[in-house]
Amino acid sequence: MLGAMGITLWVPRDDETASGAALSPDAAPSAAANADTVRARAASAPAPVAATAASAPTRSDVATLDWDALRQTVASCRACRLCESRTQTVFGVGHPRAHCMIVGEAPGENEDRQGEPFVGAAGQLLDRMLPAIGLTRATGEPARQVYIANTLKCRPPRNRNPEPDELARCSVYLFRQIELVQPRLLLAMGRFAVQTLLDSHEPIGRLRGRVHRWRDLPVVVTYHPAYLLRNPADKARAWADLCLAAAQLST
Ligand code: URA
Repeated sequence: MLGAMGITLWVPRDDETASGAALSPDAAPSAAANADTVRARAASAPAPVAATAASAPTRSDVATLDWDALRQTVASCRACRLCESRTQTVFGVGHPRAHCMIVGEAPGENEDRQGEPFVGAAGQLLDRMLPAIGLTRATGEPARQVYIANTLKCRPPRNRNPEPDELARCSVYLFRQIELVQPRLLLAMGRFAVQTLLDSHEPIGRLRGRVHRWRDLPVVVTYHPAYLLRNPADKARAWADLCLAAAQLST
């Protein structure tokens, strides 16, 4: 269990215990001698390792993982503090070779409970947006069924914004998912997806309307469905973004 938590536990070897037992039973050492013995043993024992989170996963750690191995790696990830508060990780759903891959932000309360991305109110809006350009999250051909993943696989407590170190650590998993799907288009929804894929802190309003690149893959940027629920006036712009995505998919 400690190993799974990324904690190394140091215990004395058997021979150290044996040498302790070999102290002369009839010497009746003084309290000072006992204290010396304790200090000497402490000095020779390996230093305890602090109970820190596991180290950050690297690109090469995941470079050869297939879907199952990647899913298991994510499920047991303890690379950042979000592992402490999650109910479960939320890996991603959809066609494993979808032409269009949607990248969202992070699981919310419903996603954390159900283990699937975009199942709450924002997800219901997304479900209504996709058919507008001939896409769906229902089972279908790779040209129609999307793959959906988040930048973070664990819910931030109280749905707070992701921290930069959380995004950086978790991006390794997202990037491997993209490599496995090999989509024709990435649709980045919201500023954290944009930050992760484009390494840009520009507002969505400045980035939308043109095609960007992640490595050599086209990326279309749009508003997050949760933002659109709060700002319905921007739905027209989101519609234009979807049309750009559809046009890109048909090239
Ligand atoms: N918002 C996201 O970005 N992803 C989800 O899975 C749910 C809400």
